[in-house]
Amino acid sequence: MHRKIRTNIEHYGEDYQRFLGAIAPPIFEASNFAFSSYEEVEEYQKGEMDKFVYTRGGNPTINLLEEKIAMLEKGEAGKAFSSGMGAISSSILSLVKSGDHIICLRGVYGPTYDFIYNYLKRFNISSTFVDGRNVEDIRSAIQSNTKLIYLESPNSFLFEVFDLKAIAKIARENNIYTIIDNTWATPYFQNPIEFGIDIVVHSASKYLGGHSDVVAGVAVTSRELIKGINKNIHLLGGVIGPFEAWLILRGLRSLPARMELHQSNAIKVAEFLNKHPRVIKVNYPGLETNPYYQLAVSQMRGFSGLMSFEIDGGEKELRRFINSLKLFTIAVSWGGYESLVFPGKYAFKDRADGVSLSSQLIRISVGLEDADDLIADLDNALKIAFN
Ligand SMILES: *Cc1c(COP(=O)(O)O)cnc(C)c1O
Repeated sequence: MHRKIRTNIEHYGEDYQRFLGAIAPPIFEASNFAFSSYEEVEEYQKGEMDKFVYTRGGNPTINLLEEKIAMLEKGEAGKAFSSGMGAISSSILSLVKSGDHIICLRGVYGPTYDFIYNYLKRFNISSTFVDGRNVEDIRSAIQSNTKLIYLESPNSFLFEVFDLKAIAKIARENNIYTIIDNTWATPYFQNPIEFGIDIVVHSASKYLGGHSDVVAGVAVTSRELIKGINKNIHLLGGVIGPFEAWLILRGLRSLPARMELHQSNAIKVAEFLNKHPRVIKVNYPGLETNPYYQLAVSQMRGFSGLMSFEIDGGEKELRRFINSLKLFTIAVSWGGYESLVFPGKYAFKDRADGVSLSSQLIRISVGLEDADDLIADLDNALKIAFN
């Protein structure tokens, strides 16, 4: 049945009778599952029976999360991981082997860059980092051994947006796989599989969980490609725990409501910053004046709450501004109910992909507080900083 996304988030995959009528799914905090007889073991070993055996391979609570996230991303199958990096590394390793080459957008999440650029070198897997805002950069970087194009759109420091349809087309014409990190937009605002991207990965520690209380990751793809991912998680072991899976399921219930509020708060905050005389530049694709706005609205249904901006001052003003904020807590990560702030300059240190962030860049995660209060807090901190 075709239903709208909000209805589906709440109802898809739920079978209350299966769990004694429990409305909230039980947490199957079990490492292994019993066979009822020797004959059942035989049947299972012959592949004639599908059952839960060991939680590294499958668990009812985890499976419900995987079904739901696959539905939300419009993919055929999903896999949950102990972290976003677990999802990213296992998905990449499911597609490449020694001698292969990866094209990656510069500006991707730090540990992803480190994994592709440094770690995979050890296994003779090479990489080229490209700007990618002009898709021809990607086409020109293709080599005979290119196996994968890795994307993040919007990326999470400069919020550059990339043409997913065009990039997927180039990849398919050249028999190259594509993976996208869709953490910023969430499946509520963007479904890259619809544009021909092969694998979608998320840090579920951000908006999917939404409450800053769990680290987890997910990957969504086709029935064919999930086989390689399942094989990898089986061997590398980055499985999510049943309780963590349950926390993500709990977070998903309110994903649409939270994302709508993150969006309306973030647009108000971005507009305030954009007009402020001490703010030089606001990086937020939800602003109509942003250079990526047109492309963004052509492939996204909305905008989340993470953005960055540069202030018109030096180290002294930056320090005073950040220390004067009362409602924006100084912390890494993002996507929770609470507003956060972090200086951008530490994010891309020592990177060879040609991206450097301005020392005046400040990243904020706009939470679910009242927008007027958040704006008053920013306004006050800017006044103190430049006093
Ligand atoms: C946080 C983050 C990750 C990594 O996720 P973890 O759950 O921390 O492992 C990957 N991509 C982006 C864009 C992130 O912000």
